[in-house]
Amino acid sequence: EYCSGGYHPVKIGDRFANSRYIAIHKLGWGHFSTVWLIRDQLHGRYYAMKVVKSAKHYSETALDEIKMLEKITHTSPSSVGARFVTDIADHFMVDGPNGRHVCMTFQVLGENLLALIKRYDHRGIPVPLVKQIAKQMLLGLDYLHRQCGIIHTDLKPENVLMYLENVEDLIRDNLDKKQDQHRRIRHHSSGRGSHVLPSDPLGCSLTQDRNKPMSNIHIKIADLGNACWLDKHFTEDIQTRQYRSPEVIFGGKWDAGADIWSLACMIFELLTGSYLFDPQKDRSFSRDDDHLAQMIELVGPMRPEFALSGKRSREFFDCHGYLRHIRRLRYWNLEDVLYDKYSFSRKDARAIASFLLPMLQFERRATAGDLLHHSWLEDTAPKLTG
Ligand code: ATP
Ligand code: MG
Ligand code: MG
Repeated sequence: EYCSGGYHPVKIGDRFANSRYIAIHKLGWGHFSTVWLIRDQLHGRYYAMKVVKSAKHYSETALDEIKMLEKITHTSPSSVGARFVTDIADHFMVDGPNGRHVCMTFQVLGENLLALIKRYDHRGIPVPLVKQIAKQMLLGLDYLHRQCGIIHTDLKPENVLMYLENVEDLIRDNLDKKQDQHRRIRHHSSGRGSHVLPSDPLGCSLTQDRNKPMSNIHIKIADLGNACWLDKHFTEDIQTRQYRSPEVIFGGKWDAGADIWSLACMIFELLTGSYLFDPQKDRSFSRDDDHLAQMIELVGPMRPEFALSGKRSREFFDCHGYLRHIRRLRYWNLEDVLYDKYSFSRKDARAIASFLLPMLQFERRATAGDLLHHSWLEDTAPKLTG
């Protein structure tokens, strides 16, 4: 992928934007880009720099991403909700052997929530921590939807990043420490110290130590690379399979409620370590058929008017709104799933279901603003004011 139209080959020490930034270490990569820790030589600050592949399609998508990030950055930076969505610090172009690349810089964040799910061995993250994540996600989404007019369209654990509030000090400390070590290696060994850069210059990474109890967590909704405007969709083909909403599957009208559906799937996964929906195809039905069936089994029947409202509805539903290819459904409601399968107490199962079900309504789904007032989040920081 390091070819014409592909990634830009960044090397440690490379300079960007008239030498203002210097590359320090690779932080990650995705389908569209590589992401680097950089130091701003002007102010001595650190940022994450996303260098996008150079092919026209990627550059154009990146320019839309920048427009939405700028909307997020400038709409109302002092809103509580703005704290929970990534904003953009700077952007510029870089020319290289594979073409011209769009670059964006962001605050340095840490691991994504999938890493947290794995850290708890897919057995579920403690409820108080999930409540904090849920509240921050809702504040962020309320800001994104209501104030910025943006739909994320790809909410999932990988696209929510954790961070520490004092991360810049940590980076500085760690880089200093590594530099000391490096100096010592150079002085005391013969030539073998040539692996100059440690694999993880940020030490124990940017999230908290796994052995320390995690009492507070800070997250930001990240990767606006697939986002769109409330009044301007770029594609109808949105959302990662497990987090996809019913109206998107059957080609119906969708809006910010699509993100709310994904959020419910995500919160369930944080609580249990398992997908809420993980549909598979079979000889007699497709993955979409199975997905719609699983949704109905969990939350109950769809109104035929809703089921038949999409461009692809008739592939899945007959004229009465029944699934064509899967006739026998095994209803199992969310509270019982949490109690029977995931061993939550009856009381917890009921409380969680009462929080998640409004997000899983087929029609008139709850908004982020509505959900912030739910009793499940009552005692969770940050407290709502006004
Ligand atoms: P995809 O769309 O395939 O998920 P992408 O090319 O759009 O990927 P991102 O998801 O934005 O790229 O970022 C890729 C990876 O880089 C992330 O998974 C994360 O590990 C890392 N990363 C992104 N932004 C930051 C940041 N601000 N701080 C630290 N690491 C980051
Ligand atoms: Mg991503
Ligand atoms: Mg992306």
